[in-house]
Amino acid sequence: PIIAVVAERAVGETRVAATPETVKKLAKLGATLKVESGAGRHASISDTDYVDAGATVGDLAATVKDADWVLGVQAPAVLDLAGAKPGAKVAAIFDPFRNRDLVDAYSAAGFEALSMEFMPRITRAQSMDVLSSQSNLAGYKAVLVAADTYGRAFPMMMTAAGTITAAKAFVMGVGVAGLQAIATARRLGAQVSATDVRSATKEQIKSLGAKPIFVESVEGIEGEGSGGYATEMSDEYKKAQAELVSSHIAKQDIVITTALIPGRPAPRLITDEQIASMRPGSVIFDLAVAQGGNVEGSVPDEVVEKHGVKIVGFSNTPAHLAADASALLARNFFNFLSAFWDGEKNEVVLDEEIGDAIRLTKDGKVVNERLTA
Ligand code: NAD
Repeated sequence: PIIAVVAERAVGETRVAATPETVKKLAKLGATLKVESGAGRHASISDTDYVDAGATVGDLAATVKDADWVLGVQAPAVLDLAGAKPGAKVAAIFDPFRNRDLVDAYSAAGFEALSMEFMPRITRAQSMDVLSSQSNLAGYKAVLVAADTYGRAFPMMMTAAGTITAAKAFVMGVGVAGLQAIATARRLGAQVSATDVRSATKEQIKSLGAKPIFVESVEGIEGEGSGGYATEMSDEYKKAQAELVSSHIAKQDIVITTALIPGRPAPRLITDEQIASMRPGSVIFDLAVAQGGNVEGSVPDEVVEKHGVKIVGFSNTPAHLAADASALLARNFFNFLSAFWDGEKNEVVLDEEIGDAIRLTKDGKVVNERLTA
């Protein structure tokens, strides 16, 4: 098949969907690789690097021409796909709940949209899971940015001029990003605590050397929750959680929030009143800021100061680690394509379990049950 890798056009998007490493591996499987000129520039990959790996590099029209597959980080606009094979497959992060118009445009144009973030959470798809690979880096970056924004040090330091106390960091939401945030804050020397609605995270928090802070009076989500995801909590739970958080948060210097619910706005975890209870100079990093925010008043890509507390959050956190985020994304794409490679036909043939989970559109119709239900 002809696989086209397009350059990203979204503001602030620095990542690329293939690297020289994955280009080489895909070519070895039998694919013809075409990469748009400049696609890797923010990730420190030059056109020459792609050519050396076996791709041809050209402008958008030349790249997309006759493509069977198009790979993007964020889904390309339908107009940018002119010249691709009819019914071509486009694998990217579609963010379909928020980009319904784009999904409809793909359907009308007859392209097969494959949404990488709908990858089912099953063991064999773990290596294809873009949400995990990117959240991991995001959790790391969130702590670094919070540490950099904080006017004090993270570790305890005993110096000749006196002792500096360790920072207290609190991680809210202990999924992939939260676990990495805990580990990173610990490495920097903070005293770390964490909370989640899923009871299974309690042991994970402890095993990273952090303290679990949990609502005990109202039942949360036992175990992992469906597909590993949280759902919206009852009002009773939310109230108990708010009380618990209020007393804990007033003693924290750094808070990292990571709570997301697929297809819904992010849950509100921190109110203005709670922010006011924190020590001036404290820092909150809201990893959910682009999904509506866990923190009252957070604004994407701005440092908001309220009651002396700085609230930070990026609209696209992994894009702040372009090279590694691209390397992991590209491997997610490669693992996905190679798992379904039919060597005899030299084609990618998706199976039902994964194909049906990630396919949004086909043959002029929106076919994904998460969108049609
Ligand atoms: P996520 O990004 O959807 O959410 C982040 C965390 O916020 C989750 O732990 C969630 O429980 C928590 N949360 C939601 N609402 C909350 C609230 N009101 N208060 C506090 N916390 C709240 O989650 P994620 O990082 O994608 O991962 C969730 C789980 O799925 C993890 O256990 C992870 O290991 C698992 N997972 C499995 C696979 C796989 O098997 N292929 C892949 C990825 C993740």
